[in-house]
Amino acid sequence: MLDRLRTLARRAGLAATRCPACGALAHGEGPLCERCAERLAPRTGGYCPVCGEIFGDDSAVPAVCPDCLHEPPPWDRLAFHAVYAGGLRDLILHFKFNGGYGHSRLLSDLAKGAAARHLTEPVDGVVPVPLHRRRLAWRGFNQSSELGRAVARGLGVPLWNRALERTRYTQPQTRLDHKERQANIKNAFAADTAAMRGKRVLLVDDVYTTGATLRECARTLKRAGAAGVDVLVLARTMS
Ligand SMILES: [Zn+2]
Ligand SMILES: [Zn+2]
Repeated sequence: MLDRLRTLARRAGLAATRCPACGALAHGEGPLCERCAERLAPRTGGYCPVCGEIFGDDSAVPAVCPDCLHEPPPWDRLAFHAVYAGGLRDLILHFKFNGGYGHSRLLSDLAKGAAARHLTEPVDGVVPVPLHRRRLAWRGFNQSSELGRAVARGLGVPLWNRALERTRYTQPQTRLDHKERQANIKNAFAADTAAMRGKRVLLVDDVYTTGATLRECARTLKRAGAAGVDVLVLARTMS
């Protein structure tokens, strides 16, 4: 029955495909159904282009926040798709807890879109935020590497999967406050100096929470000689 409907739709020139987010038949402009296109719309205004801090009005022109004016983070720009909430949060959690198989294609497309919208300078390569090998063995995959691979392919640059390593096992950041997170993650990474020297790097992670991990990674890359760092995440939490 469905096959016949699809054939009929094809003949009628209607591209009836399944929405990659919810599985409903989609007839819209893009691949997503109308409802998901709305739920998963990118954030186009009301944020800081340096740290991604979200401001109340999503139609406001992006503006550098006071924190970034006083003490800029160790990167130039942050690209993100949208706020970590609702449909996007569900997709990311599903992706993480299904070994990267849930919605990986869709999330990669959102990440590539974020890179195209937010980044102003070309990058030489992509570095994912690494997991410690103990956590990697337990989880089986690194979600940042999966995203990083797709973004690198989309940008036509190499994925440097081994350029940054987590050398110290740290406790999960979720139960720590901002200060504790920074102390917990300090000196937890090491970067390949020969590979990073003079390079403009795009650092990729799935979610930006307090930015403590990304800050430490970016600092490590710069200490190893990277000429510049941009950051790309799928989602930014509201602080
Ligand atoms: Zn849908
Ligand atoms: Zn900011």
